[in-house]
Amino acid sequence: MKLTTAQFKTDFLAEIKTLYATDLSDTSAFGQFVALGHLLRRYDGPNWTRTSERYRQDDVKQVYYFSIEFLPGRLLKSNLLNLGLMQPVRQGLQELGLDLENISAAEPDPGLGNGGLGRLAACYMDSMASLGLAGNGNGIRYRYGLFKQVFMNGYQVELPDDWLRNGDVWEIRRENKACLVRFGGNVWMTPQADGSLKPTYEHTDDVLAVPYDTGMVGDHNGVTNTLRLWSAELPPSADQTYYSQAQRDRIDEITKVLYPDDSNSAGQALRLRQEYFFSSAGVQSILRHYSLRHHGVRELGQKIAIHINDTHPTLVIPELMRLLMDDHHCSWDVAWELTREVMSYTNHTIMQEALETWPIDMFKGLLPRLYQIVVEIDRHYRADKTPIFGEALVNRTAPLGNGQVRMAYLAVIGSHSVNGVAPLHTELLKTDVLRDLYAVYPERFNNKTNGIATRRWVQIANEPLAALIDQKLGTEWRHEPSQLKLLGAYATEPAFLKQLTAVKTKNKQALAKYIQSELGLTLRTDAIFDVQIKRLHAYKRQLLHVFEIIREYLAIKEHPAQVEPPRVHIFGAKAAPSYHYAKSIIKLINALADLVNHDPDIGDRLKVAFIPNYGVSLGELIIPAADVSEQISTASKEASGTSNMKLMANGALSLATRDGANIDIIQAAGEANEYPFGLSAKAVYGYYERGDYHAADFYQADPELKRVLDTLIDGTIPGVSTEGREIYDSLLRYNDEFFVLADYESYIQQQRQISHDFQDQRQWQQKALANIAAAGVFSADLAVARYADDIWQMPHTPLKA
Ligand SMILES: *Cc1c(COP(=O)(O)O)cnc(C)c1O
Repeated sequence: MKLTTAQFKTDFLAEIKTLYATDLSDTSAFGQFVALGHLLRRYDGPNWTRTSERYRQDDVKQVYYFSIEFLPGRLLKSNLLNLGLMQPVRQGLQELGLDLENISAAEPDPGLGNGGLGRLAACYMDSMASLGLAGNGNGIRYRYGLFKQVFMNGYQVELPDDWLRNGDVWEIRRENKACLVRFGGNVWMTPQADGSLKPTYEHTDDVLAVPYDTGMVGDHNGVTNTLRLWSAELPPSADQTYYSQAQRDRIDEITKVLYPDDSNSAGQALRLRQEYFFSSAGVQSILRHYSLRHHGVRELGQKIAIHINDTHPTLVIPELMRLLMDDHHCSWDVAWELTREVMSYTNHTIMQEALETWPIDMFKGLLPRLYQIVVEIDRHYRADKTPIFGEALVNRTAPLGNGQVRMAYLAVIGSHSVNGVAPLHTELLKTDVLRDLYAVYPERFNNKTNGIATRRWVQIANEPLAALIDQKLGTEWRHEPSQLKLLGAYATEPAFLKQLTAVKTKNKQALAKYIQSELGLTLRTDAIFDVQIKRLHAYKRQLLHVFEIIREYLAIKEHPAQVEPPRVHIFGAKAAPSYHYAKSIIKLINALADLVNHDPDIGDRLKVAFIPNYGVSLGELIIPAADVSEQISTASKEASGTSNMKLMANGALSLATRDGANIDIIQAAGEANEYPFGLSAKAVYGYYERGDYHAADFYQADPELKRVLDTLIDGTIPGVSTEGREIYDSLLRYNDEFFVLADYESYIQQQRQISHDFQDQRQWQQKALANIAAAGVFSADLAVARYADDIWQMPHTPLKA
């Protein structure tokens, strides 16, 4: 849209007056943010209305992206960017004596996700709008996001994330679109006059699902889509029903807090209620909207696609069956046909413990009608497939088995498409995790490699780099990230490489300033910034990175004359509150940081900065400053990874196992521009098959590795005692589940190579450039276009404003 600086200033001052009945000098940065948010909503309002009307008028196919997590990050700057208002607003604020950066920093960062899964969903929302696709998000409006992490004495402490305390400027509560979600009670089928059966319910616990909509603004295209998040409330009580405090609490808790624990069974029933809650509310609202325009449900498959992001929303399958049969009078066969046509499923993990199952008793008690339907799906599946595939295979893959409802299997059986998120991952789905179902439905399986929103992760997070790219390529790459490859032509232009260094240094200074103020730690910005940012998990192997730091520390202590370039090791990671081992590693990193950072022999040659409370906003600060991107998961364990893509796009070189999308990154940027190492997935599976991995052999064979490991238990790191022993034992007594010791040597070798290569800045920047130039391949726009073409069957010519 067009907006002059003068007009903006007038509008902004008027907004301040309207909201606060005072003038600008009397407002806080947060107050200014709220006013700016209101103003942007006003500017964008016509787009949002027009987009919905347009979709309705043209009766276009709509896709509904169901995800139990969305991690959108702050929206102020991304809305400014996509609306094309960054320049006049920044300028106008400046003329008013304000700073956009300050105001943006006052926006709460909604932590409605744990990590990659929720962030992917948010990147895809941005891309759907930017492609002009009729894409809707459907999720949960958690009252409290993922915990706020602080360190006390080096231990992780979890504080509540009260992100809604002062309200959310972007959301619109739509009470008129609320619907009821039923839990528990009894249900039986009553024959009707026409011979059909209708369910009768009694003693159910009803919950009111109230939607809150947030506009998802497209990239300069006048499109604004909707992210709909559901909140659980007390149902209206026509008969003056009295709700006890316990009943109120039971309803409140459904959308109170993002269930942070993906590793144990506590809170299972609550999690199941959360899953049904947003699945049911979402499907109800889809059918209601569809029925406004269509008679009957015959066209459902042409007009609606429902995407299941990981198994959490799988109940959309039996829920759609329920509504089609019970409310729309479809036969089983018709309902099943439509359901499979509509549904598609993305698998995000091959980790056995992350494949959701629910005990049948719990499921039946909480969702009696849905249970009847799942039993029926199970019966049909067995009847259809046993004659072809035999009883053993069918028993292994049916939705019900071992006393459990198996969500991933239900998702595959009830969808027309199942995709993995990187080629290796999709291959492993076919050959390992979902092998049996692949035998039954080979045509359903396909790969859709993850992508990232270059708008947020380069244009917003790294303005200096974006400006430099503009100088060379013009601005087309901003809407067409594949054009980044044209940057390759400048690899031999020394002046340009120097400018790249200058950009990186500037970003390192900004991060160093933050670390100085948060951790009181002074960093050299000519050091190698070696970054690992992701959830703390054993398979992601932060431990391997720790061993490199210990090795460097010992090397400096023992050979002070040997000079390597200075290093700063930067971590950001939250551990699930009940994940004891991960928390021990946090303590270890902090204890090591304490030792290293305060040792006068070490000085500024080596620093360790564990930045607390990693999230999207911190990512935007850390990623542009990274020289090295640590992507060091045990091969086969990381389905795709996306921080690897964000770091690459910002010119960091990957120190990476051949896992997930690292493989594709190494191929896209060229092997010579990355630092691959370690066991291949095939080698890892070889160990599994032969059962001949002996971690202790590595420990015995390599004196340096032994020396490093011994520091965990010999008092070298004063801050760890029980944690050091626990970690040491996990490696040697319990045989190192994630092959840390097997990969130590090749990892260390590449770290040494990095130290060597970093000293030739010209060559280093050439490699950084090769990464930036290759990053366009991983644009979320391209990924979403592939979903639209292959899975959702949706045309995507951008709508014009
Ligand atoms: C991108 C992102 C992730 C995913 O990181 P991986 O290294 O792919 O696991 C997690 N958290 C946040 C905040 C992110 O932005």
